[in-house]
Amino acid sequence: MNTDWTRIVGHKNNIEKLQQMVEENRLPHALLFTGQEGIGKSLIAEALATSLLCKENKNGVPCGKCPACVGMSNDTHPDFYRLVPMTKNEYEGKPEKSATAKRILRIEQMRDMQERASRVPVLSERSVIIIEGVETMQEAAANSILKTIEEPEGPVVFILITSHPAFLLDTIRSRCMIMEFGILSDEEIMGYLQNQGITEFVARGLASLADGSIGRAVTLQGERLQELHGEAIKLLTDLPIMTNERIWKQGEVMEKWSREDLKEWLGFLAMIFRDMLLLYTGQGTGLYNQKDNEALGRLLRKYSTRKVDAMLKLVLACQFRFIRSNVNIRLTIEAFLIRLKDIHTGGF
Ligand SMILES: [Zn+2]
Repeated sequence: MNTDWTRIVGHKNNIEKLQQMVEENRLPHALLFTGQEGIGKSLIAEALATSLLCKENKNGVPCGKCPACVGMSNDTHPDFYRLVPMTKNEYEGKPEKSATAKRILRIEQMRDMQERASRVPVLSERSVIIIEGVETMQEAAANSILKTIEEPEGPVVFILITSHPAFLLDTIRSRCMIMEFGILSDEEIMGYLQNQGITEFVARGLASLADGSIGRAVTLQGERLQELHGEAIKLLTDLPIMTNERIWKQGEVMEKWSREDLKEWLGFLAMIFRDMLLLYTGQGTGLYNQKDNEALGRLLRKYSTRKVDAMLKLVLACQFRFIRSNVNIRLTIEAFLIRLKDIHTGGF
């Protein structure tokens, strides 16, 4: 676990604010961290948790030596608890064989968490509970913890984390102090990658595709992500001449993709649309890759701003369906492509 503030790239203002709040002992008992995936929200939550659990912390920085700090770096601190979205099998401790099984924060996990939150802390002055992927929480699960978050029985700090704040239930949002984390600059991402031994040239290319996220830059090194980015560009290039037969075929192919791939593919579509909107307003994009710039330039001629805007909204709605409900992948993709084509041919 990350117990060290100095390992975090960027987010200087937010980090200073959090450290100051720890120092002055005025941190609210429920925080909500929002911002894109892979920018360091979890690392920051871990460092903050360590600061809150360390009795020797100075100016919000943990000492690194006390039993609490050692417990945090070994993942054995008894007053620290973390929840992540799980499939039913994972929750029951069985191996998950299905690539398409949905991970959500389950109501059973909420009950376990509530039991933990009511315990008296053993090593530190309080407990800290991190809840990742809060947007996957369904209504019943969310309702079951509202009271705990609002008025915990014991000394507990909750750190909720989401990369999709728009999909979050209002009842949860309204009970937390929200802290937004922006995307990282290309320079920050490049600096990180170069520190990992990646050459400047490659680091620049990865940073330009990473959409402000170190996590994405790192996974982009894997070829599958670059393939998915290519698939997203290809879809938009082909859309104007796409027949219904081709759409059915696409649905058939994509039905076999993993949920993770579908999520990345939709993420790339959203990123391309956002880049196009920036190009329209003359702001340019951070795109370094000349090939992508040319592809985007060609796309711009085929798509008006209003179309791009409508398509971006459609992508977000589709992401929402994949995240929150158990949809039929093939039907959803086909309906998505048909709607995309409608927008393209429609009177926008
Ligand atoms: Zn300490």
